[in-house]
Amino acid sequence: MTGSGVWHAEQAWLGRRAEDVLIEVEDGRIKAVTEGAAAPPAATVLRGFTIPGLANVHSHAFQHVLRGRTEAGGGDFWEWRRHMYEAAGGWDAESYLAHARTVFREMLEAGITAVGEFHYLHGRGNELGEALIRAARHEGIRITLLDACYLRGGLDGRPLEGIQRSFSDGSAERWARRVDVLQDGDGVRIGAAVHSVRAVDPESMRTVSAWARKRGAPLHVHLAEQPGEVEECRAVEGCTPTELLAREGILGPDLTAVHAIHLDDHDVSLLGEQRVSICACPTTERDLGDRVGPASRLADAGSPMCLGSDSNAVIDLLEEARALELDQRRATGRRGLHQPEELLRAATVNGMRALGWEAGELKPGMLADFITIDPHRRQGGVSGRFARPGAPRGDVPPQTDTRRLDLGYLVFCCSARDVTNVVVGGQTVVAK
Ligand SMILES: [Zn+2]
Repeated sequence: MTGSGVWHAEQAWLGRRAEDVLIEVEDGRIKAVTEGAAAPPAATVLRGFTIPGLANVHSHAFQHVLRGRTEAGGGDFWEWRRHMYEAAGGWDAESYLAHARTVFREMLEAGITAVGEFHYLHGRGNELGEALIRAARHEGIRITLLDACYLRGGLDGRPLEGIQRSFSDGSAERWARRVDVLQDGDGVRIGAAVHSVRAVDPESMRTVSAWARKRGAPLHVHLAEQPGEVEECRAVEGCTPTELLAREGILGPDLTAVHAIHLDDHDVSLLGEQRVSICACPTTERDLGDRVGPASRLADAGSPMCLGSDSNAVIDLLEEARALELDQRRATGRRGLHQPEELLRAATVNGMRALGWEAGELKPGMLADFITIDPHRRQGGVSGRFARPGAPRGDVPPQTDTRRLDLGYLVFCCSARDVTNVVVGGQTVVAK
């Protein structure tokens, strides 16, 4: 991911709307961004809206096979988990490589330039994790492999059952020795995960966080997705899952808490004070009946928000971004708790930071990941110079000028299928 070149964007988001933006890239990083520039002959012209690449902070690639198979019928989260466990078995390196390539290709076509794979399929040691890395390299997407420690069946220490046994290394020390072998590389970062307070005892979670902090690696955890986890934690540990993480010294700005739905006021202030990133996965959470978390209160308390496609039934970060706000509207009866710029930051720079990448903004020094969105092509419009608002005809109200880059329009009215061009590390990986 060390490409070089020059791109000329008709309109781009530089923290504000800009026109005729020249983006010069050298060795995979942005060297210069110049506004109001003419396109030199060698430049690749980008029509539409050019924005930073999207970060998919939480994915389980294997769960993509459940798409269309578990949405119907009934049951709760725990019944869905039984189906998910059926999909977790039977993979070998080659079948997982081929599967992950199709998932990562779909992500790239949706404008995702970095993915965080929360990985716990350890039945074959590092084989399937390495298959994910190879798949990402083949397709040209950045990957942060968040290798998850998973040791027990519940907070009461009950043993693992069935397929869960293949998720476990037996101890946190053995988890660390296995993960030590994995190395960062071009487009590859190794991170750590505590699967959840259910699956990892306090001493072991300290071992995992110490490993991550010694290595300067991102640390992630599934947190309070279901009320059952909170109730069990209160019964066994006498505190909430968030308070348990605080007690064990796990909270910090290098931690990303995934879901963070069933929280009380103390949890919200602990996470905010420690600047813990919160990864919401709204399309999955609504599918699983997870209810709606206190996202706007977490953001107000100081937690950066980011987003993930999680089960990958839907791969569309713009849908996740607007869902963050739209779910809050339904939960609170109020509108506009997260403004479009905040939602775009969740989908870009905040997510990149949670995955350990210096990307997500179009400015010199950042990794050269940027995408172009051109909804007018889908609408049958003419690509090219954007039109200015025209005079209304008769009693027809003035139309929003959809050719001008406006973040409200971008986040609430565009989707993955409007992505026309994707550059990762200065290399074009999607050009439609
Ligand atoms: Zn997950």
